Amino acid sequence: MNEEMQMIKSLRISRGLSQKELARLIGTSDRTVSKWERGDARPKDAHIRALAQIFGVSTQQLLSVDESSKNNEEATGMQSLVELFKIGRGPSSSHTMGPERACKVFVGQHPALDALQVVLYGSLAKTGKGHGTDRVIKKTTAPLPCEIIFDYTKTDIPHPNTMDLIGLRDGVEVARARVMSVGGGSILFENESMVHLPEIYREHTFADIAGYCKKHSLRLWEYAAEHEGPDFWDYMNQVWNVMKRSIISGLDDEGILPGGLSVKKKARSLFQSQHIDESAATRENRMVCAFAFAVSEQNASGEQIVTAPTCGAAGVLPAVLYYQQQKNKFSDEQITRALVTAGIVGNLIKTNASISGAECGCQAEIGSACAMAAAALGELFSLDIDKIEYAAEIAIEHHLGLTCDPICGLVQIPCIERNAVAAMRAINAVSLASFLWDSRKISFDKVIKTMKETGRDLSASYKETSEAGLAKIVF
Ligand code: SF4
Repeated sequence: MNEEMQMIKSLRISRGLSQKELARLIGTSDRTVSKWERGDARPKDAHIRALAQIFGVSTQQLLSVDESSKNNEEATGMQSLVELFKIGRGPSSSHTMGPERACKVFVGQHPALDALQVVLYGSLAKTGKGHGTDRVIKKTTAPLPCEIIFDYTKTDIPHPNTMDLIGLRDGVEVARARVMSVGGGSILFENESMVHLPEIYREHTFADIAGYCKKHSLRLWEYAAEHEGPDFWDYMNQVWNVMKRSIISGLDDEGILPGGLSVKKKARSLFQSQHIDESAATRENRMVCAFAFAVSEQNASGEQIVTAPTCGAAGVLPAVLYYQQQKNKFSDEQITRALVTAGIVGNLIKTNASISGAECGCQAEIGSACAMAAAALGELFSLDIDKIEYAAEIAIEHHLGLTCDPICGLVQIPCIERNAVAAMRAINAVSLASFLWDSRKISFDKVIKTMKETGRDLSASYKETSEAGLAKIVF
């Protein structure tokens, strides 16, 4: 047993807590706590933070015992796909959906407040104006007056997207919470006791899931169906309906995107333009790109979209699926199964690495979306699980190192085009996987681990801070 595990056990005993009591406080199972203490598994970052809070020590104190554990931390399970595919307004799951959710929970828990103060740190501060974080917070907390402070200087924060919510009554602070917007619209309160999302999937690697599916002759969507609740398919149908609606609305929309960059909406013209002598392949590219532009432009306009896995990358998955439905007349049921397959892939990335541009750069958003789209196509084309894995692996592998550098913090340049390019890349990935799957060398699990490490090595200026890369270009 290493020092970190011994420390958790001795701190727990010194606080007079049983494994069960500690598990309840941080929202996990006593089996998981037992695994940590035996050294069979390591707590995730979020659990480390919760443990530090409960024990009254800093996360650094817990982590510095064995810093190398940060690269080896293991998930204990995965949350519902409902937490991945969120229906909401763009343009950014981390910067609009997450803060919106945090404010709703906080205000709901403190109904006696008469005013609020919200302090934004890290990426939330640096790109919050471009993403409209302040606008969304004020809209969510209305009619309560809300002062928003952008703190650009504080670096000692637990997550790049951290915010403090301060509740006031008669000008006096009566409530306070620190919240992390951890990607895809998910939030984490620092003490974790306020929002606990159960991990309903026991497996948390592709290898384990594939092993289970092969043993029980299941496709990935059937595996998901075994774990999700009774309303799951209704919800996924709703997800697909919103995706379709955002494509249709986007194709019907014209004008200039908000934010001041004077970016023209192009989905409609892309959809209607045609080469004089257009080949089938060129037409396919144009159509898929038009659909990806349509969703991304709806997102940039603050309209309703589905995170797949984030707002910024919301156009990739619907674009390839809508194209296939138009071309090959796949039923909504078949498409929904493909969506669920994509969800398993996205959930694995979310659980074992990140889907947040602020945490790991654009590889975590567009790279993940591309992998999800490739897996979805693999399901539609009835590929077996090894080929689906390979398609998803190819899709993310060639996004490794992709930086997040949106100009002016707006989810427009390079984000919108990037959705279209990733959609085409997903189609290529499936095609390659169909022919070359038996010669592959790198597993999906390994590429996710690499993506996480690459994200950690990326300079913070390339992780949704709009301080470097394309974001330095001034028009
Ligand atoms: S560059 Fe990528 S990660 Fe960054 S906001 Fe745009 S789509 Fe999201």
